[in-house]
This record gives sequence, structure tokens and C-alpha cells, in this order.
Amino acid sequence: MKHIYDLTPAELAEFCEKNGIERYRSGQILRWMYRRKADGFDDFNDLPQKVRGALKGAFQFHTLKFSGAQRSALDGTIRYSFTAGDGASVQAVFLPQGGRNSVCISTQVGCPVGCYFCASGRVKFARNLTRGEMLEQIIQAANRSSKKISGVLLMGMGEPLLNYDNVSSALSAIVNEDELGIGRRHVTVSTAGFVPQINKLASSGAGARLAISLHAPDDATRKKLVPAAVPYTVAEIVSAGLGYARATGSRLTIEYILAAGVNDTLQSAQELVKLLQGCMKKNEDVQINLIACNSVEKSAFASPSKKSADIFRNLLSRHGLVAIVRQPRGKDIRAACGQLGV
Ligand code: SF4
Repeated sequence: MKHIYDLTPAELAEFCEKNGIERYRSGQILRWMYRRKADGFDDFNDLPQKVRGALKGAFQFHTLKFSGAQRSALDGTIRYSFTAGDGASVQAVFLPQGGRNSVCISTQVGCPVGCYFCASGRVKFARNLTRGEMLEQIIQAANRSSKKISGVLLMGMGEPLLNYDNVSSALSAIVNEDELGIGRRHVTVSTAGFVPQINKLASSGAGARLAISLHAPDDATRKKLVPAAVPYTVAEIVSAGLGYARATGSRLTIEYILAAGVNDTLQSAQELVKLLQGCMKKNEDVQINLIACNSVEKSAFASPSKKSADIFRNLLSRHGLVAIVRQPRGKDIRAACGQLGV
């Protein structure tokens, strides 16, 4: 049986029409699904019994069953675990910060890319998540935390752009006023660098921000961190990312995991400056997030010292680039970047 969150508003309106339900009812149904914290069709109490019965007969309400939550004692981050209908484990992370709350969602079960520093990459790829499974991570995180969600990051387990159709459908629901209604500038899609899909998303009108996981200033260094499953050069990835930002008028984020002795040297910082200055126009809105490699069991990579991360950042800043050393979130509950393996 299909899940109701897999339906676009147009498909829901069509269902209503085909089943003799007044068209305006689809707006009421959407409000219950996305705004009114319903836990099932029986909660839709301003809809006639006949309408609720038709929905129940045609759709399942929940795509994901809640299976647990861990709260960080360090920063209030919450790691939510869910089980999908086929038994797949799905993780989402609630991130409270400065009065705003975001949710980092997974887009696949396992990850086919398998970056060497990432726990998610060790989970064997099983399948893409559906539109409904992605949306329900956000809705359940909002309902369970009792907080308003004002930002969404597609940065959990999986490579979003290898699940392009479902991700793009979920993105339209995330930003659509009649569904989740989250501002485009507060929605970020992260990619390991799939150039054709970046270009496709740029022209799709989705308008979310893009983060490219670059992690290296040159192709030889990147190969130590990101497998050949991403067959594009660093220059191609940066150009595609900048093209996306120009086409959508949005900021480009460049994610750079710092691994001690691998890509955190002054020489790497200088090469990164050279790479970016060779591609960027003056005053482009680009932010480089430096993320100290988080500890993952049996990983060959180690976190650099705070001092060397600061030196790396300072060199980028001296050359006019906007760079920050991002603080890890939820490290004690394995919810930080690259730790979301099961
Ligand atoms: S960093 Fe992203 S793309 Fe790479 S293995 Fe982890 S989840 Fe997959």
C-alpha cells in the first residue's frame, strides 16, 4: 500500500477528485499531514468519516516507525532512529543551535560512495529512501522534539544526488508553503560531487543551497579520502558548485574534512587557495567549512589539533576566502559528521 507522504499535492488532489472528494479537502489533508502533528488518519477530525475512510483504504500513514532517540549531553543534539517497512534502519539528527532548529536527514540506506573517513560509507548500500521516508524524518523530529524546524540538511546517510528523483520531490515538499514551507535558504543539499546531477538540480528550480564535499585541493589527495565512485576532478566539482550557486543566486558551501597529515598541511591550504581563486569570481558567496575528522572506529584518519586547524583556516582567510572551523555536534552520541553508521 502506498504511503500518503509519497504523494505530491497534485497527486493528492487527483486522488480526491477520482474518489468523489471535494477538491478543497486536499488542502485540509495537507495541513493535517504537515502542520498539525497528526499521528494517523483518525486525527483528521475536521474531515468527514467518509474521507478518512477513503484515505485509510488507500494509503499507509507512517513510512517510518520510531525506534529510539539518543540525546547529546554536550550540546542537545538528538539522534533519532527509525525502522522502515522493510526493516531498514534510518537515522536523522535534530540540531538545536542559537534558537533555531535544523534536522539533518538521510537519503539512502547505506551509502554507495563509501568515503574512507565516514562510518555511513561502511554501511552496505541497500536502497534509496522514498520521498515519504525523507519527509517523515523531518516531521517526526519536529513532533518528537516539540520544536519548530527552520532548517533541513540533506547530509545524513547516503549521497542525495544518487537518489535524484526522490530527493528532488522531497525538496519541493520541504520548501512548498502548503507542505513543510521551510525557506529555500535554510535547506542545504550536500553532495560528494556528482557533476551532472549538480547541473540538473541547478536548472530544476529547487533553489536549495548546495554544499560540495571537496576534502582536498587536488585529485591525488582526494583519492585518499573519496573513492573513485565519484569520477570527477576537484576542478570540475568546484566549477559545477559555483555554476549552481550562480544559477540559483545562493551561497555555495565547500565542506573540507581535515585529516591529520593527509590534507591539513600548509601546502594543502595554499593549493586550495589556488584552486578556488582560479575558479571564483570576485565577491562570490562561498563559505568553506573546515571539519576536523571525527573519530570513527578502525579509521586510518585522525583529527588534527585545534592549532593546525586554526592555522589552515587563517591562511584561507588571509587570501580573502570565508572559512570557519565547524564545531562538531553530537559527538558523544555518534551523530557528528561522518559518524552516522549504524
Ligand atoms: S561522506 Fe557522504 S557520500 Fe561519503 S560515504 Fe559518507 S554519507 Fe556517503
